[in-house]
Amino acid sequence: MWDFQTDPEFQEKLDWVETFVREECEPLDLLFPHLGQPYNTENKAARAILEPLQERVKEQGLWACHLGPELGGQGYGQLKLALLNEILGRSMWAPTVFGTAAPDTGNAEILAMFGTDEQKASYLQPLLDGDIVSTFSMTEPQAGADPKEFICSARKDGDEWVISGEKWFSSNARYASFLIVMAVTDPEASPYRRMSMFVVPAETPGVEIIRNVAVMGDREELDEGTHAYIRYNDVRVPADAILGGPGQGFEVAQARLGGGRVHHAMRTVGKCQRAFDMMAERALSRTTQGEALAKKQLVQQFIADSAIELEQFRLLVLMTAWIIDTQPHGAARTHIAMCKVAMAKIYHDIVHRAIQVHGSLGVTVELPLHDMWSGCLSLGLADGPTEVHKVAVARGVLKNYEPAPTLFPTEHIPTRLAAAKAKHADVLGEYGIA
Ligand SMILES: Cc1cc2nc3c(=O)[nH]c(=O)nc-3n(C[C@H](O)[C@H](O)[C@H](O)COP(=O)(O)OP(=O)(O)OC[C@H]3O[C@@H](n4cnc5c(N)ncnc54)[C@H](O)[C@@H]3O)c2cc1C
Repeated sequence: MWDFQTDPEFQEKLDWVETFVREECEPLDLLFPHLGQPYNTENKAARAILEPLQERVKEQGLWACHLGPELGGQGYGQLKLALLNEILGRSMWAPTVFGTAAPDTGNAEILAMFGTDEQKASYLQPLLDGDIVSTFSMTEPQAGADPKEFICSARKDGDEWVISGEKWFSSNARYASFLIVMAVTDPEASPYRRMSMFVVPAETPGVEIIRNVAVMGDREELDEGTHAYIRYNDVRVPADAILGGPGQGFEVAQARLGGGRVHHAMRTVGKCQRAFDMMAERALSRTTQGEALAKKQLVQQFIADSAIELEQFRLLVLMTAWIIDTQPHGAARTHIAMCKVAMAKIYHDIVHRAIQVHGSLGVTVELPLHDMWSGCLSLGLADGPTEVHKVAVARGVLKNYEPAPTLFPTEHIPTRLAAAKAKHADVLGEYGIA
């Protein structure tokens, strides 16, 4: 059965979330607009507003809904999570208010799967409670999209691992209590067995933030952004700081990034909807040459193209979530890559049209569109560039195909016509058809 309805009980919760995000989370976006602020546990004023909101979310049973019941979540599964995240995507602060902010969600998953009891007590529980934040430190200054190029290394020295090298774009490191660091442990091993993953407390001697890089839209000073350029100067961690065992870094990273990518896509549906809503309102409000912009066919084309693309994207995300919920692990890989590619393009196109319809106001900092515009460029890079995911889509899709068995394609009309004639030769002969 195909069913496009949300069950009424869950819809009630979604309605509550919709109102709560608009009335309680969006004001935080206005008061504390810098990208890193939701992660800054030292911002006392923001925390004073945030914490009572987090309590209200917990009372509703909507805290950290990405988690299974064993970790205190509802075990809703990805489809319900998609519907929820779609609403949370409208607000920068909402994921923090609801305990589902990246990269903490993925880092929590890693610790839950691979951490020791002690690591779980020290880091996982406070992370799940929203008391601390964390960092995922994988990309390097000389290499991002291709992990085979990574050189930051970890060597065993007695009972310790010693991590040496640099990492780039380690988001939120300036606020993090711990970092999950990917390092080469066996340079001679095959490409996907060279690396291991480590949990590193932020205060460990040798962890040096060279600068905090700001991205477009941060509205921060050059080195006051949220993406850390980090040097690990012979950072020593105990033997059990390794997550998953030597050589398993790539598997651990994949386990984490799959969920994160689809969650980003879910939230992007909400962001696209917000940009679309703004475009539609403006088209109906602004008049030129005696009529509303909405009457102009080129503006109607913006509206129609955006509505169609957004609906297609939303259905793709929901279907991907459904595959994750109902089919074996890994079955959704190609669909997750499709979502990753689609979200960057569709968000970009809708935000661009929304800016255009707002005219000069659209390019000011007086509307959320400018944050959206810079954000849509990041979406095509964070968690891997669009190009890499397109390759993954093509590879995944092509697995279902075989080369043509003969010289001409299987759809070759003369060949198929000859076969059809042979199949019905009796009838055709009877009616005198050659
Ligand atoms: C907002 C944001 C937050 C991020 N947060 C984190 C984080 O918390 N932790 C972390 O470790 N990293 C983080 N990253 C880094 C991100 O993972 C990398 O930017 C990404 O993997 C690409 O690496 P790169 O930037 O080095 O680009 P490169 O690897 O240098 O690629 C540059 C370009 O080359 C082209 N390209 C690359 N590979 C291929 C290919 N196979 N085929 C065709 N073209 C290709 C693409 O056009 C690509 O955009 C973040 C990035 C952004 C933008």
